[in-house]
Amino acid sequence: SVPLSFFGGIGGASKLGVLVKGSNYLEALAKVDTVVFDKTGTLTNGTFNVVAVHTEHDIDPDYLLSYAAHAESYSDHPIALSVKEAYSGTIDQERIHDVREEAGHGVAAVIDEHVVLVGNDKLMNANGMDYHDCELTGTILHVSIDGRYAGHIVIADVVKEDAAEAITRLHAAGVRKTVMLTGDRAEVARAVSKQLGIDEFHAQLLPADKVAQVERLLSEEADGANLAFVGDGINDAPVLTRADVGIAMGAMGSDAAIEAADVVLMDDKPSNISRAIGLARRTMRIVW
Ligand code: ADP
Ligand code: MG
Repeated sequence: SVPLSFFGGIGGASKLGVLVKGSNYLEALAKVDTVVFDKTGTLTNGTFNVVAVHTEHDIDPDYLLSYAAHAESYSDHPIALSVKEAYSGTIDQERIHDVREEAGHGVAAVIDEHVVLVGNDKLMNANGMDYHDCELTGTILHVSIDGRYAGHIVIADVVKEDAAEAITRLHAAGVRKTVMLTGDRAEVARAVSKQLGIDEFHAQLLPADKVAQVERLLSEEADGANLAFVGDGINDAPVLTRADVGIAMGAMGSDAAIEAADVVLMDDKPSNISRAIGLARRTMRIVW
């Protein structure tokens, strides 16, 4: 039978805005010693601002933004939302003929009669596009139109207000290792993990690479120690399932992530992870 204090623990967690999907996850949470984070939307707000637009061949920046916004019109990726936000015109559905979104790459679309690609260097390389690198720090969205490099949009995200505190608290609570996994550029990943005091980061990962990284970290875990993965996106569902404890952002997170998770942070605050671990440990001590 399940001791009553388990439910006390789950109730206490829910007061923190932490939903634990079962008493076994409270026990698992108490033994977490590695915490792996997704970056965008988990440690950062996931609301990007357009910092700069660079174009080639004297292309009008608004023209570039218009094509990018139309290509992104069906996507609800945080990057797509920011491009649509930055575009001052209206989206004309009639101009959009064919759209394909590729996880960890970007989107390909036919807008008017033009083939438009919007995404990272992986997308450009996969399509044999020459692109120009950018000295600015940020996430770079390359745009090509009809097989010609048209320019890039530089976007920047900000870390969540409590993200640094979240990492400090985890280390103070005896968590052995914090890791960040991201599909973004190494340069952005390095800056964020340095700013937050994260032990290890891996960048330019595809969803399958994130699963592989988590499997590697799981194989390095000591007996009885647990790995928690914290994520927010559709692509995070496989890793959330694979981790000993999957933690999802509940407010802005995707339904797929919330569904796949064992623990849900109702207010999307990463600092509540250490609070939940502390509460779980206190509860387990009562149980034992
Ligand atoms: P993260 O790991 O930071 O949560 P994702 O795995 O969702 O990021 O995306 C990784 C990268 O793939 C992004 O940094 C971006 O370069 C590219 N990307 C993904 N979706 C889109 C999109 N809709 N438009 C443009 N680029 C995208
Ligand atoms: Mg994400």
